[in-house]
Amino acid sequence: MSESQTKEWNGHHGSVQASANGFDIIDCQAQGFKHAIPVPTAEELTNAYKHEYYSSEKPLYLERHREDLEWWNMVYAERYETLEAHLPQGRRRLLDVGSGPGFFLLHGKGRGWDVMGIEPSVQAFEHSQGLGLNVTNQFLSAENAASFGKFDAVNMSEVLEHIPDPESFLKLIHGMLAEDGLISIAVPNDFNSFQKAAVEQQALPTWWVAPPHHLNYFDHASLAQLVERCGYEVVYQEATFPIEMFLLMGDLYIGNDTLGRACHGRRKNFELNLQRSGMGSLKRQMYQKLAELGLGREVVIFARKK
Ligand SMILES: [Zn+2]
Repeated sequence: MSESQTKEWNGHHGSVQASANGFDIIDCQAQGFKHAIPVPTAEELTNAYKHEYYSSEKPLYLERHREDLEWWNMVYAERYETLEAHLPQGRRRLLDVGSGPGFFLLHGKGRGWDVMGIEPSVQAFEHSQGLGLNVTNQFLSAENAASFGKFDAVNMSEVLEHIPDPESFLKLIHGMLAEDGLISIAVPNDFNSFQKAAVEQQALPTWWVAPPHHLNYFDHASLAQLVERCGYEVVYQEATFPIEMFLLMGDLYIGNDTLGRACHGRRKNFELNLQRSGMGSLKRQMYQKLAELGLGREVVIFARKK
């Protein structure tokens, strides 16, 4: 890892933060966020997401989602509560881009939202159909975007880190939103201070660097700036639990799935115990403060179309 080296590719240029799998991660000065170069084309990525993702990359996803259901329902409820707080009554049409197995949509449907999903993975799409959800099995593109109509809210959870051109993508979504519509985004918060401390103190590799699956490496500041540049105004920003605290406390869960699940279980306990004590609001205030400090495993942003 040579932080001082600068690289350039097709107008993207910046200092190299890490290198893996034939890609360099640069802090792109042209775009204001970190991403892999060379940038693969959408076509090069299509096959991986259509056929391989949920079977080879996420084999345990469904089983673990069932195990974590109470916790996920808390997470989903908070997402919808924030959308509802920033939208008038009656504005409840939501699109989930990269809707996966459909659980976020199912939760919204149960709250009375009119929900639709777009999901490229065949397995995840079939799972959603089994839940009785309105999901289409394709990639969102400039060619098909208009055919889905207008939405009051568009959710993108763990999507933007995979997209070759997130700026064009956010602008495309802009055109699919009704007036004053909202987006909600969750992406990994990468190259954060706790990760860097763990690399330095626990002799760990930069485990979060995973091109070509992860092409973009956002943080709280760079995602907010990108969203604003694409025609949105940020209305709410928070972090998720800073899971790397376990690494700094000595639980080296990287590459240790059993320990990783144990750490995740403690994080769930922490959040559910606060929630059950009526301190869900305190928990969220804490995560807003963590976002201000640039911490937390993920960046979560809600923004309104301008
Ligand atoms: Zn760039």
